[in-house]
Amino acid sequence: MNQDLSSLPSKGHIFAIDDTPENLSFLTQLLSDQGYQVRVSSNGKRALKSLLSNPPDLILLDIMMPQMSGYEVCQRLKIVRKTRNIPVIFLSALDEAMDKVKAFESGGVDYITKPFEAVEVLARIKNHLHLRSLQNELQQQKELLSSILNSSLDGVAAFESVRDEEGEIIDFKWLVANPNASRMTGISPCSLMGRNLLETCLDYQDPELFEALVNVAETGENLKREFFCEGRSPHVWLQIVAVKLGDGLAITCRDVTEYKELAMALQQANQELSYLASTDSLTQIPNRRSFDRILQREWQRCFRDSQRLALILCDLDYFKAYNDYYGHQQGDECLRQVAKALKRSIQRPGDFVARYGGEEFGIILPNTNEEGATRVAQWVQNEVRQLKIPHIRSQVGKYVTLSLGIGCVRPTTKLEPKTLFATADAALYQAKQEGRDRAVVIPILLNA
Ligand code: GH3
Ligand code: MG
Ligand code: MG
Repeated sequence: MNQDLSSLPSKGHIFAIDDTPENLSFLTQLLSDQGYQVRVSSNGKRALKSLLSNPPDLILLDIMMPQMSGYEVCQRLKIVRKTRNIPVIFLSALDEAMDKVKAFESGGVDYITKPFEAVEVLARIKNHLHLRSLQNELQQQKELLSSILNSSLDGVAAFESVRDEEGEIIDFKWLVANPNASRMTGISPCSLMGRNLLETCLDYQDPELFEALVNVAETGENLKREFFCEGRSPHVWLQIVAVKLGDGLAITCRDVTEYKELAMALQQANQELSYLASTDSLTQIPNRRSFDRILQREWQRCFRDSQRLALILCDLDYFKAYNDYYGHQQGDECLRQVAKALKRSIQRPGDFVARYGGEEFGIILPNTNEEGATRVAQWVQNEVRQLKIPHIRSQVGKYVTLSLGIGCVRPTTKLEPKTLFATADAALYQAKQEGRDRAVVIPILLNA
C-alpha cells in the first residue's frame, strides 16, 4: 500500500500529524534517516482524507490542533474499518497536561511527550510496529484457519468437557463449528456455541458414542467410528474421528453414506457371487468346487481330531436311458428331486451333500465309520425310492434308483483325500457291476 511513496524497501510507513512545522520536520528527518517512509500533515481534518485513501502502518498524532483535535481524529479513525487497526501514538507537550486516560479512551496505543527524545520516539515506534506485525500475522493465520475449516467437506468442531462436582464428564460444550458441522446438527454455528453436545445432536444417535467420546477426553486414545443416523431423513452413515484437545475434543465428522452404500452393495454382490460360484444352478445344492473344498477341510479336521471320514458317491442308474425316454427337461427335474431327497437323508450339521457332476452326487460324513456311512446310504436309497419317480427304461425296477459307493478312512499323513475318493469310486463301480440299486463299502486297508 506504500508503493506510491517509494520503491525502496521500507521499515514501515509512518504518518505524522502536528500543527507545529518544526515538530514535523524533526520527525521527518529522524524517521527518514532510520529507513521509514514518512508522510506528514499539519491539519487533522485534511490528514483524515489522506489516511483513508492510503493507510499507513502507524500514526503519530498531536493532540492540540486547530479545527480538529487529535482525540477527534483518532476517534474517527477507529470507527472506519480500513483504519481501525492502525496504531496511533499521541504526541503531547508536557505543559499541555495531557489527559492520558482520554488518549487511550479515544483509541491511542501510546503517547510520547514533547520535547521529543529521539531514542524514545524510535523505541516506541519500533515496539508498536512489531506488535502490529504480530497482530497482522495472527489475523492472517486466523483467516487461513477459518477458510480451511469453512471449505472443508467434513464437519469439524471443537468441544470443551463439561464436568460435574466430582469431576466426571457429563457433556461437551461447543467451542468451534465449521459450516458442515453445523449443517450436520441442523443448528446454525452461532446457536451451537456454548451449548452442550448431548442436547444438540447426540440424543438421537448411538448411545454408546457419548461414552466413547468421554474415553477420548479422559485417556487421550483416538476414536474412529462409523455409525448409522436414523434420526435423519434420509438416513445417513457418518464417520467420526475424535481426538483429545485440551480438556475436551476435536471431532471430524464425514458423511460416508455413499461409500457405505457402495460397500454394502459390493458385499452383497460378493456374497451372491460366492453363492453362485459354490452352488449348482440346476439343483441349488453345493457344486463340485464346494465338494472339493469341504473334502479337503474335513480331511484336515478328522486328521487333527483322529476321527474317521466317510465318503459316499451316488450315481443314478440308467439315467442316460431315462433322458432318452422322458426327455432332458424331465431328466433335470428328476435330478432336482433326487438332490432334495439326498439333503433330507443327511442329519448331522457336519454332513455335506453336493452334486459332483452329471447324475452323480457326493456325500461327505465327518466322524463317521463304515457302519454309520452304510446306514446313511440306506436312508438315501429309501428317500429316493419314496420319490417313486417312474423309470420305464430301468433294468432294475420301475422307479429311479441309485448305486452308491462308500469309502471310509481315518486320515493319516500317508494318505490323501483322493485315496478316499478313489476308494468310493471303486465301490460305486462295484455296485454297478453287481447289479445297481445297492450300496457297496470298500474298506481302506492300511499297511502301517
Ligand atoms: P449307469 O447306470 O451305468 O450309471 O448308466 P447311466 O446311463 O446313468 O450313465 P451314463 O454315464 O452312461 O449316462 C449319464 C447320463 O446322465 C448322461 C446324461 O444324459 C445324463 N445327464 C448328465 N447330466 C445331466 C443333466 O444335467 N441333466 C440331465 N437331464 N441329464 C444329465
Ligand atoms: Mg455317471
Ligand atoms: Mg448313471
